[in-house]
Amino acid sequence: MAPSETVSATQEKPISTIVIIIAMQTEALPLVNSLQLVEDKNPVFPQGVPWVRYVGSYKDLQINLIWPGKDSLFGVDSVGTVSASLVTYASFQALNPDLIINAGTAGGFKAKGANIGDVFIATDVAFHDRRIPIPVFDQYGIGARKTFSTPNLLKEFDLKSGKLSTGDSLDMSTYDEAAILANDATIKDMEGAAVAYVADLFSVPCIFLKAVTDIVDGDKPTPEEFLQNLVAVTAALDRTVIKVVDFISGKCLSEL
Ligand code: SAH
Repeated sequence: MAPSETVSATQEKPISTIVIIIAMQTEALPLVNSLQLVEDKNPVFPQGVPWVRYVGSYKDLQINLIWPGKDSLFGVDSVGTVSASLVTYASFQALNPDLIINAGTAGGFKAKGANIGDVFIATDVAFHDRRIPIPVFDQYGIGARKTFSTPNLLKEFDLKSGKLSTGDSLDMSTYDEAAILANDATIKDMEGAAVAYVADLFSVPCIFLKAVTDIVDGDKPTPEEFLQNLVAVTAALDRTVIKVVDFISGKCLSEL
C-alpha cells in the first residue's frame, strides 16, 4: 500500500483509542472523575517512572489519560517539554493511539484576543526558547508546525483558535517575548510543541486544547494569577475536553 493510501485508510476508520496527555494533577483529576477512568494497576510504562495512566471506556472509545506524575526528586508535577515528550513517546509505543489530545492550561495574550477562562484549540505550535543562530538550525530550533486540522470540531463548539508557543519557563524573558511575537502566538505553554514533535514522528494526529489561566501581557504577576485561576479554569478545560471526546465518539479522523 502506498503511504498516501495508508493515511487515508486510517482517516476513514472510526477512532477507537485516544491518549490524553495532561501535565498537572490538578488538571487531570477532575477529568479522571468525570470520565470515570481508573488508574492502571498493571502499568504499561517501565517500572520506576512516575508516569500515571488512567484508563476507561467511554462510549465506543478507549480513553487513556496520561499524567507524567510527580517528579521523584522534587515532588511537584513533572511539567515541561522533557517529561511531555517522554510520556508521549512511551504512550505511543504502549498504546498505539488513533489520536492524541494534549490538554492543559496556558498563558494568553490579551493583545491577541485571549481572556482568562477561554479554551483555545491550537492551529500551529512552535518553540520560543530554542535559539540556534545558524542557518536552518534556527528553523529547527523554532520547530514551527501546523497541527491536525479539525474544521468541524471548531465549528461545532465555537472554540477560539490561535497559535501556541512552547518553552520550558513559566515566566517570559525578553528573548522569549521576541520569539513568541515572531511565532505570532496567542497562547504560551510548557508542553505543546514537545507533544507535537513526538506525535509527528509517528504521524499520529494531535489536538491541542489550552485554557487560559493568566494574561501574559497584563499587569498581574504570572505565578499568582496562574494559581488564583487554576481550579476554575481547569473546570472549563475539562468541560471542553468532555464535549470534544463526545464529538469524537463514533467519528473518523476525516470527520473532525
Ligand atoms: N506554580 C505551578 C507551576 C506549574 S507550571 C504549580 O503550582 O504547580 C505551569 C503549567 O501551566 C505548565 O504545565 C504550563 O504548560 C501551563 N502554563 C500556564 N500558564 C502558563 C504561562 N503563562 N506560561 C507557560 N506555561 C503556562
